[in-house]
This record gives sequence, C-alpha cells and structure tokens, in this order.
Amino acid sequence: MLLFLVGADPAMASSVEGVRLWQAPDSLRLVFDLSDGVDHEVFELDDPDRVVVDLEGAELEEALEASTEDTWVEEIRSGRHGDGRLRVVLDMERSVSSKTFLLEPNEEYGHRLVVDLTSESAKEEEQDSLMEVVREAEENQQGENRDLIIAIDAGHGGEDPGARGPSGTHEKDVVMQIARRLEKRVEAAEGMTPLMIRDGDYFVALRDRLRKAREAKADLFVSIHADAFENSRAHGSSVYALSQNGATSEAAKRLAKSENEADLIGGVRLDDKDETLASVLMDLSQTGAIEASLNVGQEVLENMGGVNELHKSDVEQAAFMVLKSPDIPSILVETAFLSNPSEEQRLRSSAHQKKLAASMMSGIRSYFRDNAPPGTVWAEKDFGTAEHVVSNGETLSSIAQDYRVSPGRLRSANGLDDDMLRAGTTLDIPGGS
Ligand SMILES: [Zn+2]
Repeated sequence: MLLFLVGADPAMASSVEGVRLWQAPDSLRLVFDLSDGVDHEVFELDDPDRVVVDLEGAELEEALEASTEDTWVEEIRSGRHGDGRLRVVLDMERSVSSKTFLLEPNEEYGHRLVVDLTSESAKEEEQDSLMEVVREAEENQQGENRDLIIAIDAGHGGEDPGARGPSGTHEKDVVMQIARRLEKRVEAAEGMTPLMIRDGDYFVALRDRLRKAREAKADLFVSIHADAFENSRAHGSSVYALSQNGATSEAAKRLAKSENEADLIGGVRLDDKDETLASVLMDLSQTGAIEASLNVGQEVLENMGGVNELHKSDVEQAAFMVLKSPDIPSILVETAFLSNPSEEQRLRSSAHQKKLAASMMSGIRSYFRDNAPPGTVWAEKDFGTAEHVVSNGETLSSIAQDYRVSPGRLRSANGLDDDMLRAGTTLDIPGGS
C-alpha cells in the first residue's frame, strides 16, 4: 500500500461534496465536506455583507444545497474563477468575522473545511441573555432570596452527534429532548431557574460550557448524555463526578476519554486551547466541589433507580473535562446505553424521557433540601421542611388535602406538570405562607 501525505496535491483536486450549517446564538459554523485537504482563503466584504470562500483547484460536483433558514446566511452562491479557484459566496444578513481550519476524517465524516463566523453584536446579545437568567433568579419575588440556578447541559451537538444507536438515533438529539423536559420541571419549581447551556443543534466547546455556567454563577451543573459500548447488552443509568486522582474503574476512564474527545469531533481550533481552561483548573480538592458533586450525584442516581435499571449503584469518578468547575457541584448523567437496542427505543419514547427528567429532578430537589447555599429561596424560606413519601393509592389531591395545601401549590412546589404520582417519590410540602 502506498501512503500519500494529505495536502494540496495539484494533481488530485479536492472536490466539494456538500455543506452543513450550524447556527448558534453567537456564531455560525459552516462545514464543507471535501474529498481531500485543500488550500483555501476566506475573507469578508461589506456593503452588502458577504463572506468569500476561495478553494484552490477544487471541484464542485453539484450545486451546493443547504437550508439557510434561521441562519445568518441569506444565500449561498458559487462560481469558478478563471485561474481555477472555486469561489463560494455567502450573502450575510449581518457583519461577521471569520476563522477557518481543516478537520481530518473521523468515524462520522471525511475531510472537512470549517468556517466559523462570529459577530460581536451577537456575542453581546448572548452575554445579555446569560445575565438575564441571573436577573430572573434574583427577581423571583421571594424577598432578598434568589432562585437556585440549575445549569442543564445537553451533551454534544452540531458536528458532534455523540453516540449512535443501532437504529440511527443520535445521542445529541435524545439528550436535548431530555434536557428540555428537565428545563420545564426546573422552570415550574418554586425557587429554581434553569440555564440551558446548549439551546439548539450546534456544538459548544467543553470549556465554553464551563464558562457559561460559571458566568451565570450556577448552583449546579448537570451534563446529560447517553452511553455506548461495543457489547450491546450493556444497559442502565449511571452518574459520574470528577476525579482528581485517577478513575474509579476502567469503564469510567474509558468513558471520560471518549466524552473528552467531543472537542476534537465537534471541531475546536488548536490555537484556541488558551489559558481560559488552565485558569479553571485550580486545586479542586480544596473547594469541596467534588464532595458536593458526589453527594448530589448519589441523590440523582438513587432516584433514577426508580425509573431505570442502574448500571452502577454508586457515583463513579473520572477526569471529565466538562465537570472541572472548581466552584460548582457538577455531575454527568449517562441516562442509558444508546448502543442497547431496547434502551435506544426507551430513550426515544416521550413517556420514558419524562420519567428520566422527573427522577433527575427529584434527586436535585433532595440534594438542595439539605444543601442549599445561603441567600437562596431554598435555604431561607420555610420551604420543603415537610416531606411526604408517596405510597400506593395516594393521589395529588388526597395528599394536598391531608396537608391542607392547594393541589396547585403542591404541584408547583414540586415542579409537577401533571397529577401523576409514582409511589416512593418524595414530595416537598410547602410551608404556610
Ligand atoms: Zn456523550
């Protein structure tokens, strides 16, 4: 077998096979699928705003087709220059600056040219919406006390599909659906405000996930995933926390390694590996964050055990990049094994997604009942002092009657969106006010 170095070999023109667009709130990523690496140049023009992508000697097999709906791109045009360059012009609805890099083939895709377009004004808007969450948490009409901010991180996204089930389900899609269900519950709960780290189908670099949660001063960070393993019989839910000195098992180590590869698959420029992360990696052992993470993780795991089999009955630890906030209790939940055909089907079912979200929520509530930071509604209010474990045959209205609270108040205190109760669930009984 002969080996060729990848590069711009003029005798082997690269051909452009397609383009994908991933719109994030503060940036737009275009990914060109190529048959090979290519010399390229990208620049911006204004009045009207355009981005020009010149590809040296590249072929275009058929006209580029991509939906530009809900993106900053109005139209994509292409043409050939006299000197053999293939020119792709993007008509933009706003002014942007561009950065590009090539990505090597991986399991999912071949050679790719990534064009990242960012906009200063969109960045500011994103920052504003982050601060909006903080304001919302402060203005909860509970006197001086603020809401708890729960950061919900749907894993992967955009160019990084995560694990793939035997019938083609992408991890990034099911974890987003579960994240949205958890968001609804947090939103409905008294004294809690959700913060969605990823809010659509686009990639967020691991350190940006950390950064967002820290800027919003989140009280908890929950990263939601679905595992995959070569043995399709592997099944069950598991919960992970950060470890600073080695993983608790080979499996946990393997998982952390594969989750940490998200940046490579999703595409982060090498020159971006700046000090931001280094500054985050202070001595975590002094902050107590790991202990708190283990604590909340155990609550979540126990509650998940009521709706799904557990893969491991204790919280495992490994060096997960996304859990490295020194000041926020952080857990990573592997909801189930997407590689297991029956768990894949369950992960797609809305009934099961609801149960998973509800059980995570119960775990979060149990944790904050005893560990709410000072100055929060949960720490200060006479709230959640009474607990009630639902037994068979009890209904929401019968419990409400027993404690002399309205069913509506009981529902909202527990973030329930319907009257369905599962035996064994712990309910907070709202205090008199
Ligand atoms: Zn994952």
